[in-house]
Amino acid sequence: MSSESLVRTAYPRIAGWRKRKTSLLEFYKCPGCGRAQESLLLDENDSAECFSCNKRFPKVEFGTAKVRRTVVECGNCGADVSMTFSNANMLGIGYICSNCNSFVAVEFGAQLLDPVEVLKQSWNPSVEKHGIPVDNDLTVFKCRTKKEYLIVQLLQILAKEEEKSFRSVTSDGDFSVGLLFDSSKKQLAGSLIWNVEWEHAILRQIFIVPDERRRGLAERMVVFWVKEYADKISDRFGIEAPNEKARSLHAKLGHIKIDGDTATGVKCFFAPTM
Ligand SMILES: [Zn+2]
Ligand SMILES: [Zn+2]
Repeated sequence: MSSESLVRTAYPRIAGWRKRKTSLLEFYKCPGCGRAQESLLLDENDSAECFSCNKRFPKVEFGTAKVRRTVVECGNCGADVSMTFSNANMLGIGYICSNCNSFVAVEFGAQLLDPVEVLKQSWNPSVEKHGIPVDNDLTVFKCRTKKEYLIVQLLQILAKEEEKSFRSVTSDGDFSVGLLFDSSKKQLAGSLIWNVEWEHAILRQIFIVPDERRRGLAERMVVFWVKEYADKISDRFGIEAPNEKARSLHAKLGHIKIDGDTATGVKCFFAPTM
């Protein structure tokens, strides 16, 4: 198995593409202004509005138009996915394969990127230079640029799959993000999101990519973050709505005390959800 396919199985939800091409697609052609659009929003009379001239016409009056668009072959199932509105991801940063529901392409400015490539350390060469070593095989890298925050936005899509919660994390927002890289695999292993409020660091989310779990990475990342960031702000930090796993992690590290159903902060306090 090539390393390429190993990477692809590591992120089942983020499949990337096998091939990228341009194809002629068949769109509807407005009988009024002649412009092309991909789909029609039909009303009860089987009429639809043209998105260009905003006039309504019966469906039967729309013609067809061939338009050239970028199409990628889904890295998971091989289906053709056109880079058009109907395949756009609801979170607004890329395109989804309608056949297998995998994330296949991501938009970054005017560029179209393979999300599998974005999660590799090689996409972000400054990790090597500016990352802070946690120990021999782990590096934490604090995001600064839009390009770096794009990685977090991709991870949020994975996190959303599991937790059903999505946090919009952008470079101009209030969140700081540490990316965890496995230095030997040169691959992203997880992320930690925090912000500073009431003069305390508040830990908002820990995420470890599915294939890198059960290695104690979350623990090493949290210990590192407390020493490197939280402790420099104040001696207690906040945690937001920790799930079962996060609670037992903080209990193990002595940050909280669990007594039956009650958790009491020792090194942390419980911050309200934003
Ligand atoms: Zn029109
Ligand atoms: Zn697919």
